[in-house]
Amino acid sequence: MKNADTAMSIAKRQDNTYRFFTQDMDTEARLRHDLEIELRSALNTQQFVLYYQPIYDPFSGIQLSTEALVRWIHPEKGLIPPDHFIPLAEETQLIVPLGSQILFQACKDAANWPENEGIQPSVAVNISSQQLYRSDIIQTVKYALEISGLPPERLDLEITESVLLSDDTAVMDTLQAIRKLGVGISIDDFGTGYSSLSYLKKFPVTKLKIDRSFIADITEDTDDRTLVQAILAMAKGMGLTVVAEGVEDAEQLEFLREHRCDLVQGYFFSRPIPNEELHELLDLSFEISEAEDSEK
Ligand code: C2E
Ligand code: MG
Ligand code: MG
Repeated sequence: MKNADTAMSIAKRQDNTYRFFTQDMDTEARLRHDLEIELRSALNTQQFVLYYQPIYDPFSGIQLSTEALVRWIHPEKGLIPPDHFIPLAEETQLIVPLGSQILFQACKDAANWPENEGIQPSVAVNISSQQLYRSDIIQTVKYALEISGLPPERLDLEITESVLLSDDTAVMDTLQAIRKLGVGISIDDFGTGYSSLSYLKKFPVTKLKIDRSFIADITEDTDDRTLVQAILAMAKGMGLTVVAEGVEDAEQLEFLREHRCDLVQGYFFSRPIPNEELHELLDLSFEISEAEDSEK
């Protein structure tokens, strides 16, 4: 019965299918179970930390925004990247308390960032669909802003396209309420979801983040160039700000500048770094021309 149950839970995670039990499933189920227990205890012992990746204006080189990216600092295993635990946190709903912790920490850190050229960068926080469906995200956002003192204009919430595809009026109301607070809403990994663009009209979106898979090939692949140009033109027409994710070299940056992309993020400028390191970096603008020269 236990084995049948294991096979069933795996079948449930994949759509519309059945599975026969195998020994590997048992091992996998045990590993997941252990990870879930570790995840719960990590939440209570502050093992999650936020790294920050700067987002720059590609023309002035000034850091206008920053993305908060969670890391699990495991006492034995060391740094665990989000891809290894966010999916399980989502399945087990642990993403709700974890997501709140992240939001509070990000607002608190951002409220203390120094100014550079009179600008304090805003902070973008990734929000999982579970947080929108199964928690009082509006209250959490309000409270995080209140106790940190962060102005709402300096907070963006990043959601994925799939959240907007469900025709759920509750999600629509939630996003409207968040926008009313003055908080921005970005579509993360834009272009990788489904092709329906009608949601851009319906929902109060402020920014599009072009997925890094399109940016990776813009200098070689004509289709990707065309797609990126089209996204930029569409966003401009709709009054949306565009961020290019995953900029890794000077050529990509040049293309994005040529086509008037608003903001750029990627390893070319900086990897995600701990908050203390970000403080040091905030005193500097990114020298676009110098970086281009050093690449050549
Ligand atoms: P994302 O939100 O699309 O974040 C961008 C990811 O791209 C980050 O990976 C970042 O390190 C990586 N990246 C940035 N620039 C470059 C580049 O130039 N080249 C390459 N190859 N990669 C680049 P990371 O930190 O491993 O995060 C992966 C994903 O995990 C995130 O994708 C997001 O979906 C999720 N995630 C991270 N932090 C959180 C969080 O606090 N809450 C939730 N719900 N999800 C999170
Ligand atoms: Mg993101
Ligand atoms: Mg992304």
